[in-house]
Amino acid sequence: MGELGGFKKYDRKQEINTAVKDRVQNFKEFTSPLSVAEQQKQGSRCMDCGIPFCHSGCPLGNLIPDFNDMVHKGEWKKALDILHSTNNFPEFTGRLCPAPCEKACVLGIIDQPVSIENTEKYIVEKGFEKGWIKPKLPNYRTGKSVAVVGSGPAGLAAAQQLNRAGHLVTVFEREDEVGGLLRYGIPNFKLEKEVIDRRIQILEAEGITFKTNANIGVNVSVDKLKEFDAVVLCGGATKARALNIPGSDAKGVHQAMDFLTKQTKALFNSDLESEVISAKGKNVIVIGGGDTGSDCIGTSNRHGANSVTNFEIMPKPPKARSVQTPWPFWPLQLKTSSSHEEGCDRNWLINTKEFVKNDKGELIALKTVEVEWKIIPGERPQLIEIEGTEKTWPCDLVFLALGFTGPEKTLPELLNLDLDFRSNIKASTSNYQTNIPNIFTAGDMRRGQSLIVWAISEGRQAAHHVDAYLMGSSSLPLKDSND
Ligand code: SF4
Repeated sequence: MGELGGFKKYDRKQEINTAVKDRVQNFKEFTSPLSVAEQQKQGSRCMDCGIPFCHSGCPLGNLIPDFNDMVHKGEWKKALDILHSTNNFPEFTGRLCPAPCEKACVLGIIDQPVSIENTEKYIVEKGFEKGWIKPKLPNYRTGKSVAVVGSGPAGLAAAQQLNRAGHLVTVFEREDEVGGLLRYGIPNFKLEKEVIDRRIQILEAEGITFKTNANIGVNVSVDKLKEFDAVVLCGGATKARALNIPGSDAKGVHQAMDFLTKQTKALFNSDLESEVISAKGKNVIVIGGGDTGSDCIGTSNRHGANSVTNFEIMPKPPKARSVQTPWPFWPLQLKTSSSHEEGCDRNWLINTKEFVKNDKGELIALKTVEVEWKIIPGERPQLIEIEGTEKTWPCDLVFLALGFTGPEKTLPELLNLDLDFRSNIKASTSNYQTNIPNIFTAGDMRRGQSLIVWAISEGRQAAHHVDAYLMGSSSLPLKDSND
């Protein structure tokens, strides 16, 4: 370890955000890195704990103290090699991960945790800048072929690992561009799409084939999959949760992902601008306090909304870890995001009761009631409506950001795959194998809606088991546990 006790000398510092009034003028990323000297100081804040809880807090098992040390010493290439040994795509997690590693960082008990997520991003960006990230072709080809369905983070990670093992990999993507949720579901201001493109170029050069506009079971027959020795399904959890309350068919009520996707597509194809759901001059309500809700808030502000209001049914996350809450682990996504800082009236413990329409069927208001959670030991928390707190909120647009309930049914039905009790494709983390022996699944399609870091982790784990299925054993890395 390099400098000891850096945490005593240096405060936590993070990337600098462009001023709100400037960044809401466009859809570009808006952070500027710290100076290289400051980045190295941030690496020195790591205490190299005997038991690094950050490591176990990271679903990928990233070797965090090791790369912090290399950053501190200015050994950026070594830091990159350490980071890439567990994470195929640090440029995605370094931008989008809610950083469970930082919540687990021991330094966080007495001070601000080490800024691990930013450090990941600095390392990988240095790698691209210096040209260190190059295609690595497998030493031999096994003669086996694998189809990966879905090109989000789980599919891409599985594809790269299986290609490294020497299999010929073809990735099928239903959209016109590769990336899954990262491509159109995540706004450009959080992930510029060139970041995906430069990584895809590497994967293509390594020998992976990508087929876009190829929706298996819809415009490509499932029989196509029979041409492959193994299949990995990584199509995500795309069925958006509905809000079945009176008036939900009002004109002006939209699913969040519809709003976000149309906006991002229009940035790259001016023919699609007319399809954008414009929030300009509108009074917008976003229901749901997670990452997708936050993305709707940021997008509405960039459109020039008149007002943006956010409702969340959960209580405001407590500052102290010891405060009793209805859930043992508070959802990481309920933090204050940069989009909330850009302008938003955020309301907690609100239940939505009814959409109010005019005689043309247009949304004009939303009725709500305040709630509280009753905690009874040994039972599920109960939601109690508080009498006399009913309120009507005039509005023109509502975006529903209530999460996803699982994969579309088409593919599992066509392939006769078993589902679990939550309607995800059934496969355990012991081998990621479905009830059809040569069909595997990983990421949100198996796990349900989750974090990008979990998707990459599952893609890597599944790849190991697919390789073992095809070859009898596998030398691809495997984490001890992935539950
Ligand atoms: Fe460093 Fe925090 Fe991990 Fe300890 S828990 S090794 S301080 S990053």
